[in-house]
Amino acid sequence: MSELTGRVLDSSSPGWDAARRNFRAAVDYEQLVPKSVVFCQQSRDVQNAVRWAREKGVPLRARSGRHSYEAYSIAEGAVVVDVSEMDEISVDARSGTARIGAGVYCLDLHEQLYDVGLTIPAASGASVGIAGLALGGGFGVVSRKYGLACDNIVGVELVDANGDIVNANATENPDLYWACRGGGGGNFGIVTAFDFRVHPVGLVAVCNITWQWSDFIAVADTFQHWAPNAPDDLSTFLRFAVGSARGAGTITLFGQLTPDSPTQLAGFSALLAPMLNAAPPTGVNVQMMPHSAAAAIFAGADPKNPQWMLHPHNDRQLFKSTSAVAYEPFPLAALNLLKTQLELAPAQQDWETNEPSMVQLLAGGGAPGRVPIDGTAVPHRNAVCVVQYDAYWTDPSDQRVAEDWIEGLRTAMLPYARNAYVNYVDSRIVDYLDAYYVTNLPRLIAVKRAVDPQNFFSFPQSIPTTAPPHA
Ligand SMILES: Cc1cc2nc3c(=O)[nH]c(=O)nc-3n(C[C@H](O)[C@H](O)[C@H](O)COP(=O)(O)OP(=O)(O)OC[C@H]3O[C@@H](n4cnc5c(N)ncnc54)[C@H](O)[C@@H]3O)c2cc1C
Repeated sequence: MSELTGRVLDSSSPGWDAARRNFRAAVDYEQLVPKSVVFCQQSRDVQNAVRWAREKGVPLRARSGRHSYEAYSIAEGAVVVDVSEMDEISVDARSGTARIGAGVYCLDLHEQLYDVGLTIPAASGASVGIAGLALGGGFGVVSRKYGLACDNIVGVELVDANGDIVNANATENPDLYWACRGGGGGNFGIVTAFDFRVHPVGLVAVCNITWQWSDFIAVADTFQHWAPNAPDDLSTFLRFAVGSARGAGTITLFGQLTPDSPTQLAGFSALLAPMLNAAPPTGVNVQMMPHSAAAAIFAGADPKNPQWMLHPHNDRQLFKSTSAVAYEPFPLAALNLLKTQLELAPAQQDWETNEPSMVQLLAGGGAPGRVPIDGTAVPHRNAVCVVQYDAYWTDPSDQRVAEDWIEGLRTAMLPYARNAYVNYVDSRIVDYLDAYYVTNLPRLIAVKRAVDPQNFFSFPQSIPTTAPPHA
């Protein structure tokens, strides 16, 4: 008989409430109570948990950074296999790779790699886990230069449904290796470590440029033609934030220039010229800084309020996020529709203390766009932009209205931006398998059938072992 090993917590343990709580606040944690949470320190703890769960017939969920938008990394009555304490990073300068524990949080990753002058594309969210991020793709502010996080995986070590350790790379288990690069967290096993290709990084330049709402069409249209065709060194996203007052909002361009040499930083303003000329900005802020400082800014880390370092998952903000992909620039009708729908955002209370509701356009092109659609499991390679839709609210009774509004916005835009990014899991997307994986779905199902024929790693929206009727 197997035993649970590692730091094992249940409802009688000190710290239980914090241990079972994920990042997403809009979840009823009184209903969603796991049986136990196992903080694993080594691969052996993960193996024991898988074998124990199988023997006992207890459901199991893998967890790294706790940022699943639908809290799919916890489940009622489940054993939660948490790898966040498996957070070692070791760099092999000779091969240009780093072994990264599956539980490393993204801001720690940015900072520790920067200490040795290196980086990989990783999330801006401070405590997003590298496992959930990279298994589903992974956009970061160096992605247009170096690819998605998953494009930089050279090997994966995981514990399979039998509790055995399996390595997947270009020569060992190549189909599983392919599936682990974009197939989504939780589907094929529990990753304990990744080998990533690492890249040099130093000083970068970041921008924050704002425009008035009335310049929406000019700014959005310029962005969608400029940003995906900008040099690879420049990753940008355009944010339309609403909710403080009906019928208006703010427009902000965020970006990072990551050059090979600091001498190229001087060219940043010239690169931004098309956007600066699209309409008169109301504010222009361009700064040079170390890449790690930029990562902290994008993560929203506030040195005067470092609470998040102590409680990285104790987020109080109520939100619902979803996504789509635009494969062509939006025609004028789509831009007008987007603006009109944004202007219908429910007004928020306590605007000053909360994030605004927003739509963000993440520029496509660059290195991710040069990977073939079937080169990894991520199918959205020809994106002009990935569209991120986020509703925020403060009064719990506003949840339904806010969620319906953002779903209405997503569906209204479907003629122009379709499918969805698997890392922005959304339980309201009915055809989610096709939306997340498009033409890569049949191969993912075949890999699932081969590595987990009994569908042990199963959760809402997981990859099935046989094709669903509509696929
Ligand atoms: C504030 C915030 C900022 C974000 N920023 C970005 C961003 O900049 N770029 C971007 O691309 N995405 C971003 N995301 C989305 C993010 O990529 C996904 O939410 C991702 O799934 C989170 O991974 P996690 O490990 O933190 O979450 P978890 O909830 O721990 O896990 C997510 C999924 O992966 C599975 N999983 C976790 N660990 C393992 C493991 N070791 N082995 C196998 N499966 C595992 C879980 O079971 C679950 O299904 C952001 C999300 C939030 C909430």
